[in-house]
Amino acid sequence: MRNLFKLYRNLKPFILLIIGVVALTYLQVMANLELPKLMANIIDNGIITGDIAYIWKEGGYMLLIASAGGICAILASLMAARTSIGLGRIVRNRLFAHVENFSLHEFDRFGASTLLTRTTNDIVQIQTSTIFFLTMLANALFTSVGAAILAYSADPQLTRILYVALPVVAAVMFVVTRLVVPLFGLVQAEIDKITKVVRENLTGIRVIRAFNRVDHEKVRFERANADVTNTYIKVNRIMAVLMPTMMLLLNAVIVAILWFGSARINTGNLTLGPMLAFMQYALQIMVALIMLTVMFIQLPRSVAASDRIMAVMETQPEIADAAETRQAGAERGHVTFQDVTFSYDGGEEPALSNITFDANPGETTAIIGSTGSGKSTLVSLIPRFYDVDSGKVLVDGVDVRELSQEDLRGRIGFVPQKAVLFTGTVADNIRYGKKDASDEEVAYAAKVAQATEFVESMPDGYTTMLSEGGLNLSGGQKQRLAMARALVRRPEIYIFDDSFSALDFKTDANLRAALKKETHDATVIIVAQRVGSIMNADRIIVLDEGRIAGLGTHQELMKTCEVYREIVYSQLSEEELA
Ligand code: ADP
Ligand code: MG
Repeated sequence: MRNLFKLYRNLKPFILLIIGVVALTYLQVMANLELPKLMANIIDNGIITGDIAYIWKEGGYMLLIASAGGICAILASLMAARTSIGLGRIVRNRLFAHVENFSLHEFDRFGASTLLTRTTNDIVQIQTSTIFFLTMLANALFTSVGAAILAYSADPQLTRILYVALPVVAAVMFVVTRLVVPLFGLVQAEIDKITKVVRENLTGIRVIRAFNRVDHEKVRFERANADVTNTYIKVNRIMAVLMPTMMLLLNAVIVAILWFGSARINTGNLTLGPMLAFMQYALQIMVALIMLTVMFIQLPRSVAASDRIMAVMETQPEIADAAETRQAGAERGHVTFQDVTFSYDGGEEPALSNITFDANPGETTAIIGSTGSGKSTLVSLIPRFYDVDSGKVLVDGVDVRELSQEDLRGRIGFVPQKAVLFTGTVADNIRYGKKDASDEEVAYAAKVAQATEFVESMPDGYTTMLSEGGLNLSGGQKQRLAMARALVRRPEIYIFDDSFSALDFKTDANLRAALKKETHDATVIIVAQRVGSIMNADRIIVLDEGRIAGLGTHQELMKTCEVYREIVYSQLSEEELA
């Protein structure tokens, strides 16, 4: 509940619209309440006395009021729709901006798929309920109070019927709410499950096919689907019972009014008009009660949705700029690790322990080690994707925690292990590294990254559209575009996380030669699988289970480092070594 109110604080810009909705609703309710009175007059003074002119006059007036009420209702729902959609837009924007600031840590914690449903489904949920609340709440309140007063003034005696009927209606509604609300909670969880299954199926389609798991996945989906279906059937069963029950109650009230009313008409205490007016008011009150119930059923869903949204909103990114950021020193491109230890959330063993090394401009520092040894983790600490547990990572002599993230990352050209491309043209994707890069710069970066040949053989060259994630490219092609994206920035520090393993040996060699020229005064950090890719590096760091097992040049390591020798012997033949 508290979170829902917090979300509704974002309604501030719409305060005028909301006042408009309430005012129009008030007018509409007033018109509705006026109608039974007019009808009573027509019956008593027109139909019974046979005064046709009076019927026409009052009837015309009734028509006028009814249309005015209708127009008010339409305007009110338009304004309510505006408000709720505007609220959705604001919350969505805020949420998105907030999530953009998350460090990888928070992404790990939430997981992409729930962040996705929270920014879409949950916000739609809030939007829907806002419309409900805006249009129904005021209406139900005005109607029930107004109609109660008018019913009483039409005939105080008949009001006693309502004393009995309304608690019964309220009791039925209460029972229904109690039954339905938990079911709706269940539906939400089950829809989450379906989303998860579908998502995994879409992203994992190749694996599913390759391992003949289609049937297994079908069963999994069918199960999730059947769960939702069954719950919805339960909900609808209750609703199906509800409608006739309410009709029965309404009709019982009508019968009671006719029964007791006609007795009072017989004794001359009441006329036909007010009795029929009373009946209308009684119905209006009961309908208002039903509306309130519908709102109560919707309420828990929007409370749940707002909880999920606020949980994201209130998560402070672990990595934020320091209050006072420092400018990096005059040196360019120094990367220093001082006794760094780091563990992931929930990891028992540190992913990295006691890492100490220096990488200098003009030098290539290579990192090698078996999978899971912490290579990607190590390089992700340089752009401060995560914060270290102890020790320090320095860039240009300043602790990365004291640099502003923008300044820090502006110095780095990062090629992640898994190349990620965006929907857009080839040139767009390369320009992602530098917004204002000229066509020549883009082409040059592509040339260094050995991408020219395949880019130019594509139908539209640099303006060829790439699909989402670059699905229409091979792994090695994606890697090379990701590299061009880093190269076009001409950063001080290049980080290549395993960017060469998807390339054939020849392209690998050409690329390294071209890179060497390009990066002669920059700091280059290369994570590699193949010894051949890094043999000539100025410094090789051998990682083993998060620790440095050896540090030095190829020759030095061959003499001193057992782990390195094992890697080398497993990859290179005798001639290559000699
Ligand atoms: P490498 O790149 O050398 O193959 P990584 O640096 O990716 O290895 O992983 C090192 C260790 O950290 C592995 O044991 C892996 O399970 C763990 N790890 C990697 N990423 C995460 C993460 N986001 N959350 C938790 N543990 C992780
Ligand atoms: Mg890795």
